[in-house]
Amino acid sequence: MYLYNSLSRKKELFTPNHPDVLKMYTCGPTVYHFAHIGNLRSYIMEDVLEKYLRYCGYNVKRVMNITDVGHLTSDADTGEDKMLKGARREHKTVLEIAQYYTDAFFADCDKLNIKRPDVVEPATHCVDFFIEIITRLLEKGYAYLAGGNVYFDTSKLEKYYVFNDFNAEDLDVGVRESVEEDTNKRNKNDFVLWFTKSKFEDQALKWDSPWGVGYPGWHIECTGISIKNLGEDLDIHCGGIDNAFPHHTNEIAQSESYLGHKWCNYWFHVHHLNTPEGKMSKSKGEFLTVSLLQEKGYDPMAYRFFCLQGHYRKNLVFTWENLDNAAAAYNKLIEKIAAVDPEGEVDEAVLAELRARFCKGMDADLNTSLGITSVLDALKAKASGATKLAAVADIDRVLSLNLIAAAASKREARRLAEAAEEHDPEIEAALAARAAAKKAKNFAEADRIRDELKAKGIEIIDTPQGAKWKRIEA
Ligand SMILES: [Zn+2]
Repeated sequence: MYLYNSLSRKKELFTPNHPDVLKMYTCGPTVYHFAHIGNLRSYIMEDVLEKYLRYCGYNVKRVMNITDVGHLTSDADTGEDKMLKGARREHKTVLEIAQYYTDAFFADCDKLNIKRPDVVEPATHCVDFFIEIITRLLEKGYAYLAGGNVYFDTSKLEKYYVFNDFNAEDLDVGVRESVEEDTNKRNKNDFVLWFTKSKFEDQALKWDSPWGVGYPGWHIECTGISIKNLGEDLDIHCGGIDNAFPHHTNEIAQSESYLGHKWCNYWFHVHHLNTPEGKMSKSKGEFLTVSLLQEKGYDPMAYRFFCLQGHYRKNLVFTWENLDNAAAAYNKLIEKIAAVDPEGEVDEAVLAELRARFCKGMDADLNTSLGITSVLDALKAKASGATKLAAVADIDRVLSLNLIAAAASKREARRLAEAAEEHDPEIEAALAARAAAKKAKNFAEADRIRDELKAKGIEIIDTPQGAKWKRIEA
């Protein structure tokens, strides 16, 4: 498969480091609030990537962190502590907030058919290892103590700006956003590895360290959790594009300085979900969550379908109208699948050809829109219904759009509706009463029953076999 690599700015033929296991890492959520659907777009696309790699036969091991400590409102280590902010807002402890929003995050993932990574590790469980890494960085001269905190010294690196997709101005955005300047930093992009002299007097979670009681910086946790669970090398690191700088840039700086060699081969970045006004955020405009979509009557699958219609490296614009269009297209697709008669035998040759067509699109830098087209191709194939449905089920192992189950429940709902119409006891009783009235030459009563049914949208058709009925089309 060809995959765009943010490091080389090229599509590269993907080759894993080891034949037996493909190591994948995903930056997890900061659990101080609900995830908005823009955050979840990244997790949907990463889920498709993981499932496609598995589909191709790779044995994927995927790890994700949960940020429950150390993430400040600006990614450049300034502003408020996000977890404290959440705890204050809801009058709960930081740990209660972390648990509540971790559960909420996975509930959203379940609704969107996002598989849980093999390992999910909260940052607070790995602090000892972070301390070990920071100690080694200090020993190797990549870090320094200043004002009670430990900082990473970016001037010690040959190349700090590894993602050339951004010009220096974009890269400094995090620095510009800083509320106040940290005068302890030797270089403007240096970042905190360990906070000891916290400006947050009420910091709830603290650990003992060689530099005093404190807590880890945000960036160190991904390095620590990845190396702890996946070892010294990584095949693919995923995340939203806004994490490329400074977060991923800092992860690479500290990981490679610690390890003394290259760390991760491929960087997979999912672009933004925007509103017509700009980048989606928790603070601007309507706070769009999966629950809100459901409250408004949308199937979460319609949102997943909406995401899959676009390419992960393009910004996607969310409007209710765009979501309506996606929901309509998704329903139409389900209707088409529901209309397939599952007759005949599965033709393995045709199935293999349909699979190959699906792979062709997905191999081209995860073109999920072509992936959806290949479902339509399967439905149009000159093949038995059984073959078509086998192909759809096979492709849906990756797309995870509930295609087969949704089509089956649509078929079942239709069958029940038809059955209910055929045996509506109330209508049948009315027809029997009308027949009796006619037989008694009480035509006024027979007409009255006819009109009453008509008012209910039921038309009577007199046939030689007796009266039948149907619903009048609106
Ligand atoms: Zn991360």
